[in-house]
Parts: sequence; structure tokens; C-alpha cells
Amino acid sequence: MWYKLLSIVTNSQSKAIKDIVLNKVEHEINNRVSKKVAVVVKDQEHDSVHVIDNINQNQTEKLSIKQILSEIIAGIIIEVYEDTLVMRILNGQKYEILNTLDKEFVLKKVKHYIDMQKNYNFGFQNNLDCDRYLMVKSKLFEYMKNADRLLIEGFINFRLKEYIKELENYINIAVEELFLEQRNNEFIGLLRYFVHIQTAKEDTVHIICNSRSNYSDYRLFNSMKKDITEKYFEYFFADSLSLDIDNDDMLISALITISPKKIIFHKFNDNGENTSINTEALEIIKQVFENRVYFCESCKFCDRISFDCMF
Ligand SMILES: [Zn+2]
Repeated sequence: MWYKLLSIVTNSQSKAIKDIVLNKVEHEINNRVSKKVAVVVKDQEHDSVHVIDNINQNQTEKLSIKQILSEIIAGIIIEVYEDTLVMRILNGQKYEILNTLDKEFVLKKVKHYIDMQKNYNFGFQNNLDCDRYLMVKSKLFEYMKNADRLLIEGFINFRLKEYIKELENYINIAVEELFLEQRNNEFIGLLRYFVHIQTAKEDTVHIICNSRSNYSDYRLFNSMKKDITEKYFEYFFADSLSLDIDNDDMLISALITISPKKIIFHKFNDNGENTSINTEALEIIKQVFENRVYFCESCKFCDRISFDCMF
């Protein structure tokens, strides 16, 4: 004697999702549950998969099949529905300010955070070991214990509020990051505009950076290898203490004032070691000056003039 243990139903709007879900459920149950214990009947017409088990099985055996089913469905919710859920939240009123590209950016970021959390917290190899999977799985099992029908979308909407809340938290962080990036791009655009409309005060600026832990000391030279640091830093030197402006900001401001056609960063420092400019400042300079930025390869430029006493 066989009887229906559970029907798994999808009423997704997307035919593609329906097909994936029904095929995955059927395939995985067949893989994981012996046909002697349970039979799977796919009912495409009703968007369902019926799991039929032997009526003679005891309660523990029935629960163990439901345990496996909850693992399978939890995996499907995470793998098949998660992107759609994120997009559904993003299409809500709260995020109507975002355009399609913004939403794609946020979705990508959310997936990135989820991956980071997975790697950081667990070091597990796949999606199915993360805590939201465990959360979904246990809710499913709780529900399935006393149910003979599971409508996946209904279950997600009404019983996975905690899981959806977690996705919302990721979305909020990603939207913050999007706004920050947009503000940064606006700022870079403005600086690029300044540089574009100004006449170059020097054709080339050679930059030598002498870094001491968090502090970078910059020296600027023109194409004649003449030290022009004071000339362009002068204004800031006078006010730097009261303005709380650091050397990286001064360098960026000086370069924008000069708007050179070519900026060359040299590896040289007074100890003969390679030094590097503050990464954040360099990133801004590269974005503003784009293909005007170069890095010296051998630093023989520096050999032609003695910098010994310049720092
Ligand atoms: Zn050099």
C-alpha cells in the first residue's frame, strides 16, 4: 500500500523557474531516497511533484524522508529563488529611486556579501552550508512535519520572513555602497572637468614619494627636473595645520592646479627602496588623470640628479 506523503507545488510566474524546480525536485528525490521507500510522480499539468511513500513505514521513517525533502527544497529556494527575491525587494516602493543598472549593481553586491559571509564564517565549499540555508531548512521541516502539501512560493512569502529580512539587510548595505560610489563618481567627474578646462601649468610632473608608515612625503619635479614642490604646495603649507589637510590631499590638489599633460610616479626614495603612494590617493589620481599617469620602470631618471638632501 502506498499513499501520498507530500505534494510539492510551484505557482511561480516564470515557466523557466517552474521547470527547474519540478525537475530538480524529481531528480534529487530519486537520487537520495530509495524507490523502495518512496516514489516520485511528477505532475507537470498541476505544477507539482508528488512524493508517495509506503503506508507501512513508521513515523520515524516518514520524518526522515521529510528531513531529506526539506534539505532538497531549502537548496532550491537558495539557488533558484534568491535572485528573484532580491529583485522583488528592489522593485518595491522603497527602492523606486534606483534604475535598472543600479539594481543590477545591488544584486551583484548582495551575492558578493553572501559569498563573503559564507567564506568568512564557515569556509564551506558550497551554498548549502551557510546559515540561511540552515534557517530555511529547519523552517521547512517544521512545516512539513504536519503538512501533505507545500506551495513553495506561499511558504517563502509567509514563513520565511526572517530569511527575507536577512536579504533586506544585505540589500541596504549594498544600496549604501552604491550611493557612496555614485557620490565618488560625481566628485571624480568634477575634478576631471577642472583638469580638462585648465591649461597645463607644467607639461610633465615627476613625483617621488617617501613614505614613513602612514605618512607620505611627496616631492614634485617638472620636465626640467626642477623641484616645484614648494611652488605648488605653498598655499597648503601655510594653512595645512589649521585646514587639517594631509599630504595626499595636498598632492591631489597640487596636481589639479597644475593639470599636467603627464604625471610620472618614480620608485625612488632616499633609502633607495621602492616606495608607494597611498593607494586611495593614487586611485583618485588615476581616475582623474586617466591615461596621463605613468609609472617609471627603472627609475634611472632619479640617477641623473642627486636627491640625497631633498627630503
Ligand atoms: Zn624613476
